Amino acid sequence: MEIKYFDNAATTRIKEEVFREMVPYLTNQYGNASSIYKIGRDSRRAIEQARGRVASLFNSDPSEIYFTSCGSESDNMALKGMAYLQKEKGTGKDHIITSKIEHPAILESCKTLEKQGFRVTYLDVDKEGVVDLNSLENAIDEKTFLISIMYANNEIGTIEPIEQISKIAHNHNIIFHTDAVQATGNVDIDVKKLNIDILSMSGHKIYAPKGIGAIYIRKGIEINRFMDGGHQEKNKRAGTENVAEIVGLGKACELAEKNLESYQKKLLFLKGYFIKKLTENFQDFIINGSLENRLPGNCNICFKNIDSNELLFKLDAVRNMCIWRFCLFFWR
Ligand SMILES: *Cc1c(COP(=O)(O)O)cnc(C)c1O
Repeated sequence: MEIKYFDNAATTRIKEEVFREMVPYLTNQYGNASSIYKIGRDSRRAIEQARGRVASLFNSDPSEIYFTSCGSESDNMALKGMAYLQKEKGTGKDHIITSKIEHPAILESCKTLEKQGFRVTYLDVDKEGVVDLNSLENAIDEKTFLISIMYANNEIGTIEPIEQISKIAHNHNIIFHTDAVQATGNVDIDVKKLNIDILSMSGHKIYAPKGIGAIYIRKGIEINRFMDGGHQEKNKRAGTENVAEIVGLGKACELAEKNLESYQKKLLFLKGYFIKKLTENFQDFIINGSLENRLPGNCNICFKNIDSNELLFKLDAVRNMCIWRFCLFFWR
């Protein structure tokens, strides 16, 4: 029986076009991108083409994109890189503001930084999962150097008021980072228009493979290097480039940019259909999160009197659906 996979918030299947572009770099074109002879230069060229494609998706400059191993690494780099820079420069700043609903890559990085003497404010969200801008404003003090709020939540799909948050940060000369791993490819993200300083993204949530990500760091923003070693990625991230996966990420970004509108339409149609069918067949369920400011494909539902784990187990047992912690995020 064919599996109906409903959990694209957890990971996506690699697109055929993405895979096909990667294959040469897993086989014949194995040059180290730092080598100056032809096979190395070919890898370099492929990486730079991919960088251009990633940059274009966010309306940024290729020089502002750095490849990492995943979304989690990008998040770690943003938080720890900015925090360690404060120490190194002796700015005296020690305060980060984030929200309580961030991905563990953010929350756990914050916990580590707290153990090292940094202060972190974890903002509450309202019942739709939206960060309160007044609490944000009130949490800022003269030692705040970073505000990190996710673009869209991975469980309930709520899109945060990024433009306003970015404005508040910049009014106080604070760097603004956003974890856009879920939002990428699902909504139009323009780092210039939204005035975003640092942004995290990941390949495997947008039909590229697992184990590849990127971070956008606005030109002129200093950040400490997080991975020590060689001088790759303009000395910001050491490690021989993962050429094949970088190429895959580039292709996935190109497709995401090209197909954004039709993809959104398709997701909204499917979501509408799904909710219509649920309404016809069940009485007692509620949809969590914001209905307006929400990722087009996200559907997060509570069924009354049904245990989520039991439901998950039963749906998986009949092998026609996969639901993970109430979170239905679907495509196809
Ligand atoms: C999946 C996810 C991450 C982590 O990305 P990985 O590439 O799996 O490390 C970070 N933030 C959010 C919001 C995510 O959904």
